[in-house]
Amino acid sequence: MVKETTYYDILGVKPNCNNDELKKAYRKLALKFHPDKNPNEGEKFKQISQAYEVLSNADKRQIYDQGGEQALKEGGIGSNGHSPMDIFDMFFSGGPFGGGGRRRREHRGKDVVHQLAVSLEDLYKGASRKLALEKNVICDKCEGRGGKKGAVETCSNCRGTGYQVTVQQLGPGMIQQIQSACSECRGEGQRINPKDRCKTCNGRKTIRDRKILEVHIDKGMHDGQKIVFNGEGDQDPGLEPGDIVVLLEEKEHPVFKRTRNDLILRMTIDLVEALCGFQKVIRTLDDRDLVVTVIPGEVIKPGDVKCIVGEGMPHYKNPFEKGRLIIQFLVEFPQSLPPEKIPMLESCLPARSEAIIPENAEECVLLDMDSASDRKYDHNQSGNAYDEDEPSMGGSRVQCASH
Ligand SMILES: [Zn+2]
Ligand SMILES: [Zn+2]
Repeated sequence: MVKETTYYDILGVKPNCNNDELKKAYRKLALKFHPDKNPNEGEKFKQISQAYEVLSNADKRQIYDQGGEQALKEGGIGSNGHSPMDIFDMFFSGGPFGGGGRRRREHRGKDVVHQLAVSLEDLYKGASRKLALEKNVICDKCEGRGGKKGAVETCSNCRGTGYQVTVQQLGPGMIQQIQSACSECRGEGQRINPKDRCKTCNGRKTIRDRKILEVHIDKGMHDGQKIVFNGEGDQDPGLEPGDIVVLLEEKEHPVFKRTRNDLILRMTIDLVEALCGFQKVIRTLDDRDLVVTVIPGEVIKPGDVKCIVGEGMPHYKNPFEKGRLIIQFLVEFPQSLPPEKIPMLESCLPARSEAIIPENAEECVLLDMDSASDRKYDHNQSGNAYDEDEPSMGGSRVQCASH
């Protein structure tokens, strides 16, 4: 019989479990509650680590089984010295707890993402950019220890727990307890005696350093593509540094719109061009001039779409292959025509078909949509939108009718 089961309960195992079951339980929970994944579950992670540290050690487990947590404390062998991170590190790096030496993503610093705005020209021609950034690097003066060798001591402020509780009086008889990371040791549970602190990093173990990364933008890269610099993230003792990820953000182009490897160009032509042919020059993203010709007699209608093969975006990793340049035509119509020219124009166009007007057909007024929608939605005081006698409506009607 064991005296108490708290540590077993924390790990979700039975008091008679063997070492393998213990390891399995710890592995599962430690990964689940690791602060990288679950920043709000720091306390839980600590409990799991503490329970595992005791139960995985045969001597400590025996003392705990016989006398509970109290017996461990009396014997001076609580979970002193080791931070939850140490236990995690040892477990997963194949240390004394024998974890199998696999390196997992969980045991890495955070990736740092930088957005980089690039023009469509850059993505077409390829480019390189210098990205200046600041990052934490391990202090080489103290080799990341924060002070002299052996200067690490259990934090006296939090007694090694890594957190502190502050009590706030909210009102008469109302207090609030706030638990936060220890301000002395920044939640690590241990600290360096101020007199032994490294002068360079002031005990922080890392220093800020400026770094310039050369970002190569390959031809054909696209919006949202990531360029990864492995291990260039912030350094932290005991953590594998994360990556710096450069996230490309394609800037809008005034002329071309891109969809995958195609470029879309909206070309406005005049009515005379649409009917009688034209030549236009298109300046490419790499500053060449393309001439497109529509011969007289070929009519371009509003909304017509044509394309030039091989003048779109280069394919990523295969830049000699290019997409299409798609041209969408918009036709600019004249506002009005001189009435005396109409017969001449009409003689050039296909003959119109005669409208047959039935005997009792009703004569209507054709309004522009803008003024027509005003009529419909102009609710007056009485709430009747169709009240034709309303003076304001009469005014607008006169105006429209005079068109
Ligand atoms: Zn502390
Ligand atoms: Zn230092």
